[in-house]
Amino acid sequence: MTPDYDIAIVGAGIVGSSLAARLAPHARVLLVDRDVRGLRGSTGHAPGFVGQLNSRAPLTELAKRSVEAYRQIAGGFNPVGGLEVAYTIEELEGMEPRAVLARSRGLRAEIVGAEQAHTLAPAFVENSAGALYFPDDGTANARVITAAYQNTAISCGARFLDANVLAVEGNAIVLSNGTISATIIVVCTGVWSGQLLSLPAVVSVAHPYAYSATRATRPNSPFVRFPSAHVYARDHGSVDGVGSYDHDPVHVSTRAMDRHHTATGAWDDVFDDAITRALAMLPTHTAAGFIGMTTADKGDAAEGGEKADAAFAAMVKSREEGTAYAFNGLFQVTPDGMPLVGRVREGVYAAVGVWVTHAAGATGLIADMILQDLGKGEMKDAELREALDPLRFGDREVVDTALRTYNDIWAKEHAQVQGDGL
Ligand SMILES: Cc1cc2nc3c(=O)[nH]c(=O)nc-3n(C[C@H](O)[C@H](O)[C@H](O)COP(=O)(O)OP(=O)(O)OC[C@H]3O[C@@H](n4cnc5c(N)ncnc54)[C@H](O)[C@@H]3O)c2cc1C
Repeated sequence: MTPDYDIAIVGAGIVGSSLAARLAPHARVLLVDRDVRGLRGSTGHAPGFVGQLNSRAPLTELAKRSVEAYRQIAGGFNPVGGLEVAYTIEELEGMEPRAVLARSRGLRAEIVGAEQAHTLAPAFVENSAGALYFPDDGTANARVITAAYQNTAISCGARFLDANVLAVEGNAIVLSNGTISATIIVVCTGVWSGQLLSLPAVVSVAHPYAYSATRATRPNSPFVRFPSAHVYARDHGSVDGVGSYDHDPVHVSTRAMDRHHTATGAWDDVFDDAITRALAMLPTHTAAGFIGMTTADKGDAAEGGEKADAAFAAMVKSREEGTAYAFNGLFQVTPDGMPLVGRVREGVYAAVGVWVTHAAGATGLIADMILQDLGKGEMKDAELREALDPLRFGDREVVDTALRTYNDIWAKEHAQVQGDGL
């Protein structure tokens, strides 16, 4: 019997939507999400830092391909540059090998002095020892990009369906009112991936990020990272944003994800100090924008349910009112810091643990694999495919290793040179 679709993609965040746009011109594509246009997953909350250099070569390659793709979308990518700020001469000198690595991978990078670092990002950098400047980096608007990909997919004939997928069985997705068959099923469900596939190497975590009150716009500024403090910040146009990895990782289990209706959760006590320390990295006049910052109700950041739903509602209200607020956003980590992208079993693929920074590159890779499977393409990117193989960890128990990458999100322990992540 002919399947209902050639390809059914579950999850319409930046990953699933970008994949639908790539495949729709070649095949009969269905894109399913509980709320296709609503962006209730991590994509809807991503502040969009795109640092292309990573000590893991496959990630640099995916990021470069993604930036190239986002540049084609109006309002998708803003090439503001990125700064990694050092507070001691030793730290600055330690950045030199990273500049060399960047240049060897075709990315511009230069060490700049304290004065230039301040001039480039006066709202964020004061009294530093200097910085490593990446002029080709920038910020992505994940919502704009995802909407553009969805529009492309629709215009190429893809069908969208708002529905909750209960299971993937054989070559069918199971819904509450029946099944839909497809030659190939792709799971792109982000922090909920454990509900449909057993891929224990991809682990959901909670992460604090804060927005200032609305202010007057300023000239463009690079985004900044303070690697030794595990803090990052950016100008969002009419507000500032700051995030921190400087706290014990908070694991959100697959069971807990059953009670999360968005990729947000309650505000955990451990985030208080982390965000306070993060704000202390900013010049006083910028930190002042966060005074009076509200958070959602305190609770277990990993637990879903009423408090998580209330957290989302509080966040939407603060955003509408233009007041300062901090929230707990959920995303995924893996044991080697790289996403799981590829074939899981006959007819079933996954693209999970993928950041905005790497999404378009990752979906290009998986689209080629799928087209090859359908007899419409040829073998490409063998090395990348192997590096990102979703089954590469076998049956090993790797949750703790994955959680450790949270505090090393910029991969300082991964290589001699400092890497980066979000
Ligand atoms: C606070 C925060 C800061 C971040 N900062 C950055 C950053 O600066 N740079 C960066 O590159 N990345 C960043 N990320 C990570 C990035 O946002 C995510 O990795 C990326 O958006 C994941 O996209 P996705 O499409 O895989 O998943 P999602 O956007 O989560 O989409 C998954 C979709 O699947 C749907 N779904 C799930 N289960 C089912 C089901 N059973 N049936 C139907 N539909 C289902 C959901 O409704 C959802 O729409 C950040 C994330 C957060 C939360």
